[in-house]
Amino acid sequence: MTSSDDLQHRERMAALVEFTSTSLATEFPSPFGSSIYDLTSGRLVAQAYDTVIQYSDPTNHAEMNAIRLATTKLGRLSLQGHILYSTCEPCPMCMSACIWAEVNTVVFGASTLEDANHYWPQASDLSPTELVAHMCREPKCLILPHIERASCQELFRQCDETLQQRGLRLPPHR
Ligand SMILES: [Zn+2]
Repeated sequence: MTSSDDLQHRERMAALVEFTSTSLATEFPSPFGSSIYDLTSGRLVAQAYDTVIQYSDPTNHAEMNAIRLATTKLGRLSLQGHILYSTCEPCPMCMSACIWAEVNTVVFGASTLEDANHYWPQASDLSPTELVAHMCREPKCLILPHIERASCQELFRQCDETLQQRGLRLPPHR
């Protein structure tokens, strides 16, 4: 990764954190956001929050929503030539979706087990890297961890504070 790539990843992640933080003023605050860019043109193709609670759908993670928006917009199944950003390390469902969608690169901010797990107990400890190791096609998806991690951790903290203040914190049984 060159330093200009690194700067671009940090800028895009900062923009994603800003976009995701706007959810805190909505009925369904969430620290989970995801964006997808075209690698050739650099164009933003899709960005989304998670909408799990809004639609009572445990599959509506931010990455799933961003992938659905992007493939619908482009009218095709493959996101080859695209890069996905997520404020949090993708769970096995989302990482599998990235693999099925043939996303070239996944960039994430916070860790699931070290960061998100403090607020939202995680369902699995299977990492994106472990899933990628089982990919059948080449080239395998590239994973770039911990870009703007501190901003994503702060987003988690702010979201938790908002949920507590508004009495929206989920009970353990959800
Ligand atoms: Zn997920």
